[in-house]
Amino acid sequence: MVTTHNLGFPRIGARRELKFAQEAFWKGRISEEDLQISGADLRRRHWQNQRPLDRVPVGDFSFYDQILDMSVTLGNLPERVNDTKGSELDRYFRVARGRSGQESACCGVQAGEMTKWFDTNYHYIVPEFHQNTRFRLNGNRLIDQIDEARAQGVTPKPVIIGPVTYLWLGKAKDDSDRLLLLESLLPVYSELLELLADRGVEWVQVDEPALVTDLDADWRHAFSLAYHHLKTSTPKLLVTTYFGELRENLQLACELPVAGLHLDAISAPQEVPRVVDWLPPHKQLSLGVINGRNIWRSDLEKTLDWLEPVYEKLGNRLWLAPSCSLIHVPVDLTSEDKLDPEIRSWLAFAVQKLDELKTLATALNNGRAAVRKQLAESTVAVNSRAKSERVHSASVQARLADVSPALGQRQSRFPDRIAIQQRKLGLPRFPTTTIGSFPQTRDIRQTRLQFRKGELTEPQYNARIREEVRRCIVEQEALGLDVLVHGEAERNDMVEYFGEQLDGYTFSQFGWVQSYGSRCVKPPILFGDISRPKAMTVEWIRYAQSLTKKPLKGMLTGPVTILNWSFVRDDQPRRETCLQLALAIREEVLDLEASGARIIQIDEAALREGLPLRQADWKNYLDWAIESFRISANGVRDETQIHTHMCYSEFNDIIEAIARMDADVITIETSRSDMELLDAFRGFHYPNDIGPGVYDIHSPNIPDSEQIRSLMIKAAERIPAERLWVNPDCGLKTRQWEEVRPALKSMVAAARELRETI
Ligand code: GLN
Ligand code: ZN
Repeated sequence: MVTTHNLGFPRIGARRELKFAQEAFWKGRISEEDLQISGADLRRRHWQNQRPLDRVPVGDFSFYDQILDMSVTLGNLPERVNDTKGSELDRYFRVARGRSGQESACCGVQAGEMTKWFDTNYHYIVPEFHQNTRFRLNGNRLIDQIDEARAQGVTPKPVIIGPVTYLWLGKAKDDSDRLLLLESLLPVYSELLELLADRGVEWVQVDEPALVTDLDADWRHAFSLAYHHLKTSTPKLLVTTYFGELRENLQLACELPVAGLHLDAISAPQEVPRVVDWLPPHKQLSLGVINGRNIWRSDLEKTLDWLEPVYEKLGNRLWLAPSCSLIHVPVDLTSEDKLDPEIRSWLAFAVQKLDELKTLATALNNGRAAVRKQLAESTVAVNSRAKSERVHSASVQARLADVSPALGQRQSRFPDRIAIQQRKLGLPRFPTTTIGSFPQTRDIRQTRLQFRKGELTEPQYNARIREEVRRCIVEQEALGLDVLVHGEAERNDMVEYFGEQLDGYTFSQFGWVQSYGSRCVKPPILFGDISRPKAMTVEWIRYAQSLTKKPLKGMLTGPVTILNWSFVRDDQPRRETCLQLALAIREEVLDLEASGARIIQIDEAALREGLPLRQADWKNYLDWAIESFRISANGVRDETQIHTHMCYSEFNDIIEAIARMDADVITIETSRSDMELLDAFRGFHYPNDIGPGVYDIHSPNIPDSEQIRSLMIKAAERIPAERLWVNPDCGLKTRQWEEVRPALKSMVAAARELRETI
């Protein structure tokens, strides 16, 4: 018999119950006890959802983040929260977000750093280390939840982050070598495992996704060392890898002295036969056969075609699971009653994915005939999607076949273009601008909501948004900015707004996925060939431009960012999907130009996010990502100025690709790096114009003009002054007008002084 299990279930709740409980607790509206009750309710419900599995994960639930939970378990919270008041949970939230509930200034601390979880859109709290960090086993979270799960009649399989990945994910605050901490970390892991053994736990899932990344010899050695140290017969360890291929770490992973290995058969299908051959005969092999990263229904018959021979070889040694934890997909499709029924029949969220898993296991155990109906349904869905005219458009395919590098080529080189643009735009030196959005006030959000609910007619809605645009232009003129924007009042989200207007997209009602803490995103679903039925932004931009003589930037989201922030199709390479998006954005760019826009900004906020985990794969990604951007942007005439914007601060390793985009102006986040990140641009002799952000829009602090001026002087030490623009780090939609006005006033004043002095 094959064993079925799950690596992790979405903790946020089908209706984001966890989010609302967390936020109520932080606002002081519910007690810690209430919050604990909500957590227990969610765990109960989620174990019920997983009841058909042979083993269910325990310890995947978290009040904020599972890595932070592990830091608590290992007694490794930062010093700065140790002697703050309140409960353990208060200290936990202080690390997570700077403070716990409604508390006076007494207990605020600097929040722990947050960073992306591998190549997903989940963010974890980075463990902090020092040379003399010591660990100690702390708390009963796992033990208590094991008891809790058993009381509900399921077989618990505790989930922990493995010791090597735990260190790998963290950061030594004193720049010491964190790998040296392994020796003192391992005894604490041993102690934890003993405790679990005493509790009668048979299997522990030990996540070591660092095994799918580029590791140097020391880190690879750490794996052998760690698992030789942890070698036990009870509980048995299932080392879990996911998100990619093991490649040169494959043998290492197979040879670890543990009882089982989990391999992500979705992202590393070609490694399955090798692992089946390599794995010593006493070990169990868990295969991740259902995609935990997307929302598509699986082709179960096709999966069985390759899985049956594996089962024949492995017999009882075979376990089945989703490829990775299901926290990266929404909870349950059942409540999606507004989706088109055809499209809906192609989808599977977490609950449906576990049904699929069960079907596969039953087919292996009892033969396909035992699940004939489920298999037939799967095949019908897969065939309907493969043939559907809503997915496949001959005209889009034809356009794609015509794509050539020439499409991404500007007419002239940058030095010639910029001269023409400068003549035409007549901007002063150190031109000032913003990144696009202005405060999304309650009124604006209310207006959009009323329109969505049908409480406003389209003309009424348009009139209100126009009024917002007008106000925004008046403000910018009064501030004296040089290049204006319309303010993005009509946009809920920079990807969803475009998705809603493109053919090939659909939207769920409850398809929320945790991004971090209580923050969730609802990625739009890109299901089919992408085309643009009509212009998306032209009317707003034309209207905004009609209100001012200053140049107004048309504002678009780039193809790579739209791709990276959507659930995308798995039936064609990402590159193709991205090129389709690029062609659609290109049409919009050309329409904007034809309607008189002199400057067009194409945001690529998520370009870096799409980088593959392995450096060897970067080139391929960057090649098609940059090609897509170029196709979207570069069809314009020389005199039309293309801007792009990126809101992150690591450019060193991708600067060459950024230069290839050939945007006339790039605005970036720099204020917190004291302009040092411009070194990457200088070192590369980055040729085009740059707007280094001069203040951090995430903070309510208002910069004074002297601060801004001195940052720009630092910028001018690195980049020739005539190529510099002056702008904030990112869009202003999360701020208040009361903050934005004085901040931009300082910015404009600083630019004016710079023109006098440099
Ligand atoms: N134009 C967008 C804005 O100003 C850009 C947002 C972003 O880069 N994340 O909001
Ligand atoms: Zn940004």
